[in-house]
This record gives sequence, structure tokens and C-alpha cells, in this order.
Amino acid sequence: MQPTRPPSVSRVLETDAARELVAEHGHASAAEAIRAIIATCRAAGEAASPEAIGMQAATLLAGEARSPLRPVWNCTGTILHTNLGRATLSDSAVAAAAAAMRRPIALEYDLAAGGRGSRDDAVADLLRILTGAEASLLVNNNAAAVMLVLATFARGREVIVSRGELIEIGGAFRLPDIMAAAGATLREVGTTNRTHLRDYEAALCEQTALIMKVHSSNFRIEGFTSEVSAAELAPLARRAGVPLVNDLGSGTLLDMAPLGLPREPTVAEAVAEGADIVTFSGDKLLGGPQAGFAIGGADLVARMAGHPMKRAMRLDKIRLAALEATLRDYRRGRDNPTWAAMRRDIGDIAAAAARLAPRLREVLGPGFLVEAVASTCQIGSGAAPTATLPSTALAVTPPEGVSAECLASACRALDEPVIGRLREGRLLLDLRCLASRDEDGFIGAFAGLAFAGS
Ligand SMILES: *Cc1c(COP(=O)(O)O)cnc(C)c1O
Repeated sequence: MQPTRPPSVSRVLETDAARELVAEHGHASAAEAIRAIIATCRAAGEAASPEAIGMQAATLLAGEARSPLRPVWNCTGTILHTNLGRATLSDSAVAAAAAAMRRPIALEYDLAAGGRGSRDDAVADLLRILTGAEASLLVNNNAAAVMLVLATFARGREVIVSRGELIEIGGAFRLPDIMAAAGATLREVGTTNRTHLRDYEAALCEQTALIMKVHSSNFRIEGFTSEVSAAELAPLARRAGVPLVNDLGSGTLLDMAPLGLPREPTVAEAVAEGADIVTFSGDKLLGGPQAGFAIGGADLVARMAGHPMKRAMRLDKIRLAALEATLRDYRRGRDNPTWAAMRRDIGDIAAAAARLAPRLREVLGPGFLVEAVASTCQIGSGAAPTATLPSTALAVTPPEGVSAECLASACRALDEPVIGRLREGRLLLDLRCLASRDEDGFIGAFAGLAFAGS
């Protein structure tokens, strides 16, 4: 048999297709891709035309040019999906972040006095109004806020925590490990299901630095349970002369009860209950950028601000600008995307499903079945973990010979990946998080759907 030989790299580079690749991706990348395709052909003993090799190189380069951080469509039914970057920001927060990226801002500059200022001052007044706390401090995330509290007040001393609150959150955030890393000694009290005020009382000693209350976040204990509220702990902490820290985790500035969700104390309520320091996240229920808050009495906050670790944990100007705009939205009574998604009426979601089902069926082509079905959403990120909100999803049944897994993986491979969940041989695309203004973009995202091996 006649041995087959693919063309040389320089021969492929002479084609119009390759010239376009060089213009778009640069000579080095284009030549490297062409070389890789030629090597594959040679290994397979195939001869391909220079044009065909140019086209395959174009596909390879287009794939490589796609950012792994490109936007995706969150149809998972989890509003604050930690793996998808939690909260999406309001238009005003995005505009503020963009402006802070393009232009200098008065980050640590007192415009009235014309001299040095402090970066956390930008949101101090807003936070005082929204939470009632005297002072505030901002860090990289809530994990950092908790770490800074412990490092500032409890290094080499004891922190009393209920055994029912020794949580592990996604990744490696385990309360006992955080305590150890901050040099504090964990003093566990009570049992997994029941802790009483007398347990805290009995653990108080010379070595006690803090009493800490931690939101259970991602689990619920039911049945024969009892916990001591922060409101009950506050007088005990005051009598003992040790600060009470309440780590709210998600923390909400607004009451969740009107949404039919279980009551959670708001940040303002946690402050009013008498906690000396309250910590919470920026990108969970607050609906802002990743950030951590430690708010409370001015003396305690000033000690934290003076800790050398604060500098290593501080918020950058981009997120600070976005956070300031997010808090301003609250002040004006405007819902951010997280709250808009949580508040969205089920009738509105069902209407979107009725609009979108025929459009999706059309873009997917023959053989696909698309139906609107009832679904449930969760909030995510450890906020009200067992609560659900009613929703509507598009249920996509693939044609004969294509599995739902294969369909899900093709959706994840799109230029704008669509991420849903599998349910009984169908792909469910929950619509609660799809804003009406994004519907055209969402349908358009499916245009390039292709199945591996077909
Ligand atoms: C989520 C959470 C944290 C960590 O917050 P991040 O902002 O993700 O760092 C800490 N404590 C509790 C109780 C949480 O729920």
C-alpha cells in the first residue's frame, strides 16, 4: 500500500484559512496547532488536504481560546451556587466595579480633608444605617472575618462553642481547624443535639477569650434538640466580661419570612440581640461581591483593624466599589439579582417556561422533547438549607440513542455552557434564575450544540 503523507506546516500556512488563524491567534499558536493536527494525521496514517488541516486547527484554537471562566447559564435550581461564583451583581454594582477598574478612585483618600483616609470608611455609614452596628471592617470573605476575630482576641486562649455548631462548610473550612490555625483553643460544650446555657456557664474560666455562636448553615438537627440563642448568651457574656461573637454565615439584611422561608435573624437583629461582633458574607444572601464583614463595637473593631493580618485579608478597590453600590441598592429599597430571583413569582416563572419551551424545541431540532415541569429551587450557600422555593423547569428529553448524560455534557461544552440537573432520563433546566431580559441570549446559547461522536 502506498504510504500516505500529510502536507508540511509551511504548506498549510499558505492557505487562506491558515492566514486567518495567524491574524487571529498569532503565528506561534497557529503553527503549533497545525503541527499538532499534522502529527495526529501522521500517527493515524491519514493524508489530509492543507485546507482540511487548517480547518481542524481552527477548531482546536477556538476551543483553546475559550476562557474556562466564561459566563454560564445557571439552570441548576440553586440560586447562590458556590461552584458558579455565588451572587451575580446588580447593574449598579457592575458599573461601580467597572469604573473602579478604569479610573483612579478615592480608595484611601479623604476627599474633604485632602489626605489619607481608610478604605473601609467608604461603607461605614451605610453599614451603620443598615445594621445598627457602631463600627465595621471588611475583609476578603467571611472565612477571613472569622479568622481575624480569632487571631485578634483568642490567640493562646479558649473559645467556647456548642458541639452542635462545629460545622464544616464546602472545601476545607472546618471550625475546629480554623481555631487551630488561628492559635485558639476550642472549648466544646453541650452535645450534638442539645446545648444548654449552663453548659456555657460551666466552661467559663480565666482562659476564656470569646463565646462564639456559629450558624449551622448547611444542615439542620431535628427532633430532641435545644440550642442557646445569641440573645440568651449575651447577658452571660456581659457578666463574664468576654465578647460574644455571632458568625451568621450568610447573613441577611432583609427579612426572609415574607418569601415563605424559615425566619432567620437579620444582621440588624443579631446586632440588637447583643452580640459584640457579628460576621457574615458579602456574596451569599447579601447578593454582593465576595467579601467578609465583621461589625460591632468600635473598640473591638479597631483592635481587629490594627491586627497585622488585616492587611493580608483586605478587600480590593473593585469589590469595595461593587459592595458600596450593593449596599446603596438596599438603602434605596432596590432588589439585587439574588433577591429578585428569590422573590420571583411562580406565575412569572411558569409564563417564561411556556414562552421558552417551543423556542428551545425549535433550536434543538427534531427528536427533542421539551416540556415545562414543576420544579423546586434552593437558595444555596448555606442559607436556609432545607427550605425550597417553588419553580418551573424546562425538561428536555433527548432523541433515541442520545442519553440525558450526553445531552448534559453537550450543554456544558457550549460557548456559553448551560448547567442543569439530571432527573429520570431528562435534563431539567430551572428557570427561576433566568431574568426575562436574558431569554434571547439563553435560547441563542444552544445554537452550537454538538454531541461527541456524532
Ligand atoms: C459560608 C460561611 C462561612 C464562610 O464564608 P465565606 O464568605 O464563604 O468565606 C463562615 N461561617 C459560616 C457559618 C458560613 O455559613
